[in-house]
Amino acid sequence: MTGTEGPGQVGVPLVARRDDISALEAYHSPQLDVPVRLNTNESPYPPPPDFVDAWLSALREVPLNRYPDRSARGLRSAIAQQQGTTADRVFCANGSNEVLQTLFLTYGGFGRRAAVFEPTYALHSHIARITGTEVVVGERREDFALDIDAAAALIAETAPHLVLVCSPNNPTGTVEPREAIEALLAVAPGIVVVDEAYGEFADWSAVDLVSEERPLVVARTYSKVWSMAALRLGFCVGPRWLVRELDEVVLPYHLAAPTQLAGTVALRFESEMAARVQRLVDGREELVVELSKLEGVDVFPSGANFVLIRPHGRGHRLWELLVDRGVLVRDFSEWPRLDDCLRVTVGTVEENQRFLAAMREALPEVTEA
Ligand code: PMP
Repeated sequence: MTGTEGPGQVGVPLVARRDDISALEAYHSPQLDVPVRLNTNESPYPPPPDFVDAWLSALREVPLNRYPDRSARGLRSAIAQQQGTTADRVFCANGSNEVLQTLFLTYGGFGRRAAVFEPTYALHSHIARITGTEVVVGERREDFALDIDAAAALIAETAPHLVLVCSPNNPTGTVEPREAIEALLAVAPGIVVVDEAYGEFADWSAVDLVSEERPLVVARTYSKVWSMAALRLGFCVGPRWLVRELDEVVLPYHLAAPTQLAGTVALRFESEMAARVQRLVDGREELVVELSKLEGVDVFPSGANFVLIRPHGRGHRLWELLVDRGVLVRDFSEWPRLDDCLRVTVGTVEENQRFLAAMREALPEVTEA
C-alpha cells in the first residue's frame, strides 16, 4: 500500500478497518540472519528424534479427510494427567496466544476492561485492544515485582473483567510468589489469568491453585519447554465452568489433528523434556553468575529461560555491538520502563559462551566515558 491508497480508491473498499485497530502497532520481533539467535525465547534444542518418529507414524493413521476431534479429548486427557487435574479443566488452542485471545473474546470486549502490570508481555495489551477491551495499566516496582498494594488499589478502583499476570514475567524474568496471586484473587471481581508460558523454568506453578471456587486460569505453552514452537500448541487449566465457556467461543475444529497428536505424543517424552529444562536452568544460572562478574551492567533475577540485563547506559549501542559479533538478543532499550535493557534467551552451552564473549568485548565500549 502507498500513502495515497485508502477507502474509496480503486480496489479499496469504502469501509475502512476499525479506527482502534489502525492505531495499533504491529507486534513483532525483528529477525536478523546471524549465527547466534538468542532473541525469541525458543528452546535451543529440537525435540527428541524419537518423538518426531512416533508423531509422524501416528499421523499416518489419521483420516485426513475428516475434521479433527473437535474437543481434543485425547490431548486434554493427556495434559490433565500430566498436570494432575481432570480433562474438563483443560482447554487447548493454537499456542498460548490463542488461549489468551479466547479468554479475551469470552470475558473482554467492548465496554470491558483488562488490567496489566507493566512492563510485561506486550501481547496481553495488544490482544486486549484487538478485542476491543480497554487496557488498565498498573506499574510494577523498580525491581519489576508486582506492587501488591498498588495492584489491589487499581483493581478496586477500575473493577477489571480480566487481570493478567505473567509469571515468570516476560521480559523481566520475575516470578510472583503464591501470596501475590492469592492477594489478586482476593480482590479481583473478574477472571485472573496467570500466563505461565515459562512456568516450567520456575520453582512453583499457580496450576495448583486452580479450583471451581476461584476465577483463576493458568496458561501454558508447548513452544518453549517442549521445543514445539513451530507446531503452535498451548493450553490453560481453569475451573470447569470457564473451560466450558471458552469451548463455546473458540472456532469449531480450530486445533488441527497433527497438532493434537503432537501434544499427546510429546507427553510420552517427559523425562527427556525435564532434562532439557534442567540444562536450561543450569545455563541460566551460569549466565547470571558470569554476567554479574561484569562491570557496568545490572542483571535481573530470572525464573525463565531468559535473562534481562541493563547496561549503565547506551543499551541500543550494546545491542548493535553484539549483532556485529554475530549475537542477536532482544532490544528493549527504547521501551517504556525498560530503558537500556536487553533480554537474552538461554541457548546451548556454546551459544551462551559466544554471547558472554561478545559481552566481554562490547560492554567496555559502551561504558567508557
Ligand atoms: N505468553 C508469553 C509470556 C510469551 O512470552 C509467549 C511467547 N512469546 C506466549 C505467551 C505465546 O506463546 P505461544 O503462542 O507460542 O504458546
